[in-house]
Amino acid sequence: MANKPYIYVTRKIPESVISRLKNFAEVGMWNREETPIPRDILLNEAKIADALLTMLSEKVDTELFEVSTNLKVVANLAVGFDNIDVEEATKRKIVVCNTPDVLTDTTADLAFSLLLMTGRRLVEAVDVVRNGEWKSWSPYFLAGSDIHHKTLGIVGMGSIGEAVAKRALGFDMQVLYHNRNRKPETETKLGVEYASFDKLIKQSDYVLVLTPLTKETKGMFTKDVFKKMKKSAFFINVARGPIAVESDLIWALKEGEIAGAGLDVFDQEPINQDHPLLHLDNVVALPHIGSASVETRTAMMKLCCDNILAVLNNEKPKTPVNKELFQKI
Ligand code: NAP
Repeated sequence: MANKPYIYVTRKIPESVISRLKNFAEVGMWNREETPIPRDILLNEAKIADALLTMLSEKVDTELFEVSTNLKVVANLAVGFDNIDVEEATKRKIVVCNTPDVLTDTTADLAFSLLLMTGRRLVEAVDVVRNGEWKSWSPYFLAGSDIHHKTLGIVGMGSIGEAVAKRALGFDMQVLYHNRNRKPETETKLGVEYASFDKLIKQSDYVLVLTPLTKETKGMFTKDVFKKMKKSAFFINVARGPIAVESDLIWALKEGEIAGAGLDVFDQEPINQDHPLLHLDNVVALPHIGSASVETRTAMMKLCCDNILAVLNNEKPKTPVNKELFQKI
């Protein structure tokens, strides 16, 4: 249809969500829910699209921008945008949007659940019952580590970090945090304590990572860092896999440098079934489900649609990443 913008959605999402887009534009969609779009099809669609609604699994890079002559906006269904070359998009005046805030509490619920599962050995316990291995009671049978009155160290005290801190305080935990910028208001409001990275690593019983993946945070957790953690401490990563050097994490878990790990994210996703991390009893592994509640995923999709419609109507979107593009609007 002449002159209607073209929006391409890179994964199957419900008709009820995209119907709003259809009132305004031609909409194309990769019609699979589980399988990511092949690269060649994505590039072909990008050639003609005015807007892309993308998932974390798509690399939105210079190669894609080179072929996209009409592209005005990329709305990513995530708060993280490490799959997108934002600098390159900004140079080309292409708006990049993410989905902050709507997923904060859901992701915090998952992060705290993972901490509980890891500390209290809940996955092992479920397996023991399921496999008929529950034969008797004994004093240290499946004894884990306490959560209450322990110290939680949050590296990356942003929206999700603060929401996890609230949950932890309800469990009588002491909360330390580390950011590049101190947050005095948060300290007063929540009663959390700022710590250097080194102090946090050494003093925490649970170290929870919630920074974005950036050049600065990539490889932040190395052998040296794991060595400094308490041997009884747990490493919980709900941010992005490459923030820890995976081989160093495996080493720390095998050598007993740390007590265990709870991981929602990995270097390669989906993780291969024969990956060494999946063969360690002291690892709880989840398939990147931080924001995966029906309510929140639907809210994220709606926010992506709002952002796309705003940009295509020459309005400021709700949640742009490259805000500098709107300084004069
Ligand atoms: P946010 O509000 O932007 O918070 C990120 C925090 O990280 C900020 O407080 C920032 O503070 C801190 N930070 C950034 N670089 C840092 C560094 N080099 N060292 C220490 N702290 C640093 O983001 P959010 O909404 O809480 O989300 C955080 C991340 O969680 C996302 O980027 C995403 O990767 C991940 N996530 C994962 C899932 C999942 O499904 N597993 C779901 C949602 C989000 P300063 O700028 O002061 O350093």
